Amino acid sequence: MSTYNKLTPKLIEELRTIVGAGSVLVEDEKIEAYSHDETNAEEYGHMPDAVVLPQSAEQVSKVVKLANRELIPITPRGAGSGLSGGAIPEHGGIVISLEKMNRLLELDKANMVAVVEAGMVTNDLANAVQDEGLFFAGYPMSLQTCVIGGNIAENAGGGKAVKYGVTGRYVLGLEVVTPEGEIVELGGKLTKDVTGYDLKSVIVGSEGTLGIVTKAIIKLIGYPAARADLLVLFKTPKEAIDLVPVILSRGITPVSIEFMDRSCVITTCKYLNESLPYENAGAMLLIELDGTNPDQIEEDLIETGKLCESSGALNVYVAEDKNNMERIWNVRRNIAEAFKVYSPIQSLEDIVVPISHIPDMIPHLETLGKKYNVTIPCYGHAGDGNLHATLVKNPDSSMEEWHKNEKACLTELYAITASFGGKISGEHGIGIKRRGFLKDILAPGELHLMQALKKAWDPNNIMNPGKIFV
Ligand SMILES: Cc1cc2nc3c(=O)[nH]c(=O)nc-3n(C[C@H](O)[C@H](O)[C@H](O)COP(=O)(O)OP(=O)(O)OC[C@H]3O[C@@H](n4cnc5c(N)ncnc54)[C@H](O)[C@@H]3O)c2cc1C
Repeated sequence: MSTYNKLTPKLIEELRTIVGAGSVLVEDEKIEAYSHDETNAEEYGHMPDAVVLPQSAEQVSKVVKLANRELIPITPRGAGSGLSGGAIPEHGGIVISLEKMNRLLELDKANMVAVVEAGMVTNDLANAVQDEGLFFAGYPMSLQTCVIGGNIAENAGGGKAVKYGVTGRYVLGLEVVTPEGEIVELGGKLTKDVTGYDLKSVIVGSEGTLGIVTKAIIKLIGYPAARADLLVLFKTPKEAIDLVPVILSRGITPVSIEFMDRSCVITTCKYLNESLPYENAGAMLLIELDGTNPDQIEEDLIETGKLCESSGALNVYVAEDKNNMERIWNVRRNIAEAFKVYSPIQSLEDIVVPISHIPDMIPHLETLGKKYNVTIPCYGHAGDGNLHATLVKNPDSSMEEWHKNEKACLTELYAITASFGGKISGEHGIGIKRRGFLKDILAPGELHLMQALKKAWDPNNIMNPGKIFV
């Protein structure tokens, strides 16, 4: 356990000299917003001593050098949309928010890359490149709020991972400020590069514990203008999931194959006053196809529809116009919010299992729900095995019972996940929320290598301490 020093008035003055007086926040009302992310603020929130808003990698470097010299913890921050507590300054100290470093520095069409500052809102990048007929495919569903640096630090996934993969696939190069304050360039505008260790891939998904990303070289692809969505109803979750390999083995790779169990569809339709035809369905799949050739999408759509029907689907609905696509995606996007109306206390989970084991997980969720007096709606990315099986507190139970049951239920849930070859986070990260479980899921050798890496990069343990590891 490291011990840290407090930020003194003299050091705050030094920070002001580095980034400018207006870019150092110390007043409670200004720094409160940086004390939490999208996890439960009451449970995980913690105030920083100061928030700095640098405008260049050189300023980030100077702030980090100061913190390393004085043993003051640093928490890098993007938009604070994280779901594992990664951007929370648990030990106080300095939050470095990249919000002022939000520019698209270069759109290099000849090399199909964008060079961006880490604080650029993901959706702004997506829109800027779309205007040029290009596509950044590696983004999460929170793209309107989150920023590129946060996506890289979490190796964010999202609804498009089946076809396009996750953020890391699109990171060709990074500028990073190390925990000792050096500015390093990793990778570059290169499609192939085996010149030594692939250090940029070590930074991807490192949750801000190994350095601060200040700039990224992002790979772009052609914009897939043609699109079609299918909403497919099944009697059972097993029938729904069994369809996934059937489609993929036909050479059709949907952008996404999203799964919702019956309770998700009913609760969310009620919340949105929506009327999807779910009456007899025990599960639903939302399948999205896209491409650059409309005729090919039409063919894939017909073939996918036939495969659904021959796999026992109760109904197959096709949404080819934007309005209907939006209606069904709106249901998928609002599941978490809908359950908050039922009970605002939740633990949003992110387990990932090999796709074939999704149906094996479903009965366990029902059993765990009954055993621990919680509701566990199940939805997520069926096409990549990532399930947001969320523990929702029963409104009649006490907070004391909830806290006791939450921990016991998660311990059992994670053990079951591991027994099917799964892991405890597919895209939201470990952060504070899941760090206590890491030793149960990783083999000691793997955990030891991760800790050794952290020690080598950050000998004073000032860079986002307490995240990932206990
Ligand atoms: C409604 C909603 C939907 C979501 N959907 C998805 C989804 O589909 N897929 C998914 O993967 N996630 C999803 N998320 C979670 C979250 O949006 C992602 O993890 C996102 O990538 C976090 O980005 P951020 O900018 O908000 O990062 P923050 O929350 O600010 O930070 C996240 C982590 O990254 C670190 N970090 C931030 N910036 C940097 C930097 N420049 N250098 C180094 N470390 C840094 C922080 O220290 C922290 O550990 C969702 C969240 C919400 C609220």
